[in-house]
Amino acid sequence: MTTMTLPSVRGLVKTSAARAVSWSRADRLIGAVTGLRHRPLVLGYHRVVEDFAASVESAIPANLTSIRMLEQQLDWVGRRFRFVTLDELGERVERGDAEPVAAVTFDDGYRDVYEVAFPVLSRKGIPAAVFVITEMVGTLRPPRCDRLYVLVARAFSRRPSARAMLAGLIEKLELHAADGRGFALPETALATTVHLLRTFPRVAIERIIESLETEVDVPGDVTRRMLPMTWDMLAAMKAAGTVIGSHTRRHLLLPLEQPDVIADELSGARAEIERRLGGTVRHFAYPDGQFNRASAAAVAAAGYRFAFTTCSYRDPEFPLLTHPRLMLWERASLGASGEFSPAIMSCLAHGVFEVVRRCEHEHRG
Ligand SMILES: [Zn+2]
Ligand SMILES: [Zn+2]
Repeated sequence: MTTMTLPSVRGLVKTSAARAVSWSRADRLIGAVTGLRHRPLVLGYHRVVEDFAASVESAIPANLTSIRMLEQQLDWVGRRFRFVTLDELGERVERGDAEPVAAVTFDDGYRDVYEVAFPVLSRKGIPAAVFVITEMVGTLRPPRCDRLYVLVARAFSRRPSARAMLAGLIEKLELHAADGRGFALPETALATTVHLLRTFPRVAIERIIESLETEVDVPGDVTRRMLPMTWDMLAAMKAAGTVIGSHTRRHLLLPLEQPDVIADELSGARAEIERRLGGTVRHFAYPDGQFNRASAAAVAAAGYRFAFTTCSYRDPEFPLLTHPRLMLWERASLGASGEFSPAIMSCLAHGVFEVVRRCEHEHRG
């Protein structure tokens, strides 16, 4: 999961700021000052769907990109950067190469990436990388964040007392935040889902999901659209040049978990991909972009060479293991007109918004 939907006022401000900045070419200047201009650009996506409007009712919005928008964003990038595989990009980063190259990555290994995005990427000759949650591959279960969101969203839409019900449920399960802080549930289903995922470790989230499943009904076709790829699909993508990287065994948010669990997730996922698909796994992406220095050290210890985040914070001690990504989705590059905006896209690619907006993670813990 990534950014939340921007309120429209902020969207308008963003659009006019982007226009002004882009007209004056200040985006390049800011990019040069922040050092982002010469940084290889790594794009991050989650699901790719035929129709955003039809999918967004039952899915986390910032996980969705329509194939039309994906093409618009990639066409824009392709005119300014040379698309390379993640392997080549990694080698260039190690050498400190300044050629403007870009790579496209997809998190979580959703099946629609294989069915909807892969044919288009192949036609355009754009190499891709997929970060998979190994225990999910080939199963009929969507990722934990989707299962939780679907349940919470349905509870919020059907019951005026959904927040009280959830709070009661968490109390009944005797769950406590990892850092011991008390907490209040936010107002919306999406914010509540994000809050829960970022507060509790995996085992606690599974218990919340189990309890919610006894309270809320979810039609089968809702979750069927969020299924993961199979190993055969991944093998086909790999044979066509796609880099398959790791996203842990069970999508754990590393800063919330214990060191032995983290080590097992990191090395277990890597070994499983290598066993299933052959080759060496060198790339990792932090689930939900959550990491601290201990996470980066654990990723190094598990034998990964490169790791990718979802923001622009870079740990000076682990630069190759905290490589920034630009996370994109359907509405990331929309202008005030509601259409794809080259000016916004330019600001995103040059890191202009990162100068004014810091990430919300806690990376220094
Ligand atoms: Zn993920
Ligand atoms: Zn961050």
